[in-house]
Amino acid sequence: NQSVQKIASSSTRLGRPRRSGPPKSLGDSAYLKARKELPLWRYQDKIRDVLKKRDVLVVVGETGSGKSTQIPQFLYQEDWCQRKKVKVNNEEVSVGGVIAITQPRRVAATTLAHRVSREVGTPIIGQKGSGESGNASKESYAKGLVGYSVRFDHNVPRGTKIKYLTEGMLLQELLRDPNLRQYSAVIVDEIHERSVDVDLLSGFLKQIHTGDKAGRGGIPLKLVIMSATANVEGIQRFFSGSDESNQPASDASQSSIEFLRIEGRQFPVEITHTPKAVPDLQEALLKTIFKIHLQEPLPGDILCFLIGQEEIESAQKLIEEYAATLASNVPKVQVCPLYGQLSIEAQHQAFQPVKAKFTRKIVLATNIAETSVTVPGVKYVVDCGKAKVKQFRTRLGMESLLAKAISKSSATQRAGRAGREAPGKCFRLYTEDTFNGLADADLPEILRNDVLGAVLTMKARGIDDVLAFPLMDRPSIESIEKALIQLHLLNAIDDSGSITDLGRKMAYFPVSAPLGRVLLAAATPQYDCVLEVIDIISAITAGDDIFHQLQSEEAREEVEEYRKELYRREGDLLTYLTTMQHYAAENSDRIAWCKKRKINIRNMKQAMNIRRQLRGMCLKEKLLSEAPPPDPQPFVPISPDRAETLIKCFLKGYTLKTAMLAPDSSYVTSHGKHVVAIHPSSVLHGQKREAIMFLEHVFTQKNYAKKVSIIQANWIADALDEE
Ligand code: ADP
Repeated sequence: NQSVQKIASSSTRLGRPRRSGPPKSLGDSAYLKARKELPLWRYQDKIRDVLKKRDVLVVVGETGSGKSTQIPQFLYQEDWCQRKKVKVNNEEVSVGGVIAITQPRRVAATTLAHRVSREVGTPIIGQKGSGESGNASKESYAKGLVGYSVRFDHNVPRGTKIKYLTEGMLLQELLRDPNLRQYSAVIVDEIHERSVDVDLLSGFLKQIHTGDKAGRGGIPLKLVIMSATANVEGIQRFFSGSDESNQPASDASQSSIEFLRIEGRQFPVEITHTPKAVPDLQEALLKTIFKIHLQEPLPGDILCFLIGQEEIESAQKLIEEYAATLASNVPKVQVCPLYGQLSIEAQHQAFQPVKAKFTRKIVLATNIAETSVTVPGVKYVVDCGKAKVKQFRTRLGMESLLAKAISKSSATQRAGRAGREAPGKCFRLYTEDTFNGLADADLPEILRNDVLGAVLTMKARGIDDVLAFPLMDRPSIESIEKALIQLHLLNAIDDSGSITDLGRKMAYFPVSAPLGRVLLAAATPQYDCVLEVIDIISAITAGDDIFHQLQSEEAREEVEEYRKELYRREGDLLTYLTTMQHYAAENSDRIAWCKKRKINIRNMKQAMNIRRQLRGMCLKEKLLSEAPPPDPQPFVPISPDRAETLIKCFLKGYTLKTAMLAPDSSYVTSHGKHVVAIHPSSVLHGQKREAIMFLEHVFTQKNYAKKVSIIQANWIADALDEE
């Protein structure tokens, strides 16, 4: 596996790690030397000491100080961290032995696992899992100490002691193992990001920690809570034992949790703001990047914080085009995108030093590179000052995904990335006044987001009274009630508010609650369309969109010619399905096939990977009775009848996301009565039909419906009827 070797050999002079045999001695390893230089190194005895005596430790330390990579390594050989046999309900069970480290993002979980597996000398093998070709076979999961588990990709070698996983995955494990018996400790990393998942997870961990330990045979679950920002009082109070998060903890319980601040290492960073607001962000970005590139000496890589995948991809293209026109005595550039949905192989590029001589690396990242991951070699940061923020408006039942100004705390973190290894420079593409006007910190996601998924997560894990569940910040009662009503409508909870079998199954699948509902409906004889639904879900879950937006009229004309065979008049869902089926049937050159149709190859590969995993899960859960035939299968177009069945099946999850054509030719949502327009990215853009169903409702410049299908108004009532 070439990419594993490439990654493994990059940041060490020791050459390639061995794949099998005993771990090599770390005595004279270059890794050990680097580890010893980390601010965290000198705290290792202290950390071991604290956790021998206490069960909760809160650690605050700058990004890059070594928290995520080092703390698990300090702990995994401790006595309390070994697997023990205990009696639970007169049955002998094993408890402990593994340390979980949770991450808000998949990139961080996989990157950290690879880094640490190299540091301990047992590389992760079987990295193929991220590609569409399938997970590496069981045999190739050599014995190793480090593994990772993220949505749609798992690589946990036998004998794993240190397991990096996303917060969502640990929540998923709680479904099967409410006491987290395989773990001796859970390290909650990046808690300052306050994702919905980390807030929920914190509640469950608090319950395990403070509840009776019978389910774990009396063995406590140790917790290490880590943050890159210092404002952790509320978090400390939450974990210190008192049930109400906003009540001050008693002194006794306060003392059971220890606090450690790591004195960091940060070189000075010279910050420059623009004198005036920039009219065109992309132009300002290009100018700044090439000014740095032409004026500043090598080595010194550039890290740019951009809004999202789309902006990153178009900037990459422009930078590469412009760089190609530069004289031969100017250093070359290597552009590396870095965002959440990127395949693991592509992500790793961003972390490798450039191999070619006389070349500068330019990493184009989302806010993922703010605190989650450390990109080595960076001396220059360019900060566009914005990030994509999902916000849910309970009253409107509408989600907005807008590029919003970041907070002061984020801007400071971003600038800090330039001073990790040496003095650096940060170029903000906004004025100093703009900076001064930014909010101090971001609102926790649970107060901004739709809580439908969060409420289902709680219900499926046995929390009957969701209002009493311990949370650091409580969403409004109104938004929780709305979520309960919606779950009831989806038949996920019954009249008394208890989780139903259907709800439990919905929570098992790593997709949103409405999509879970659709998948389960697909398995009933009435619809019987699991494979098709899996294809559609895969296509809409992979990246921003599998279709590249077509910028110019010219491009449109040329590409539409090829895309014609994919477009379906029933709408976007059928178009996604047709695209998946054509791609899966393509036998010769899938890359060329995508290029012609301006389809995002990365997202398409990811979609195929998701499809394979969902198929596996559906087989396991008996939603599918037999394994589907392997690709490529000949393409067979979906008949109009079948298309109708599929759309009706989606209505089982999306009755609330429908709109009717009003006499004035606008679409008005059946729920909430808002005017929506069909998004320009939809194949139905500009069409006027009796009624539509949409999967997403976003507010950008306008109130838009995305992923739209044509329906008939009377289908809605049918979908609401019990099966
Ligand atoms: P923290 O959790 O405090 O942010 P980490 O443990 O993630 O710190 O990183 C510590 C150091 O390890 C980084 O500063 C960097 O030098 C090195 N490091 C971490 N991950 C990688 C990687 N994937 N490639 C190269 N170096 C890395």
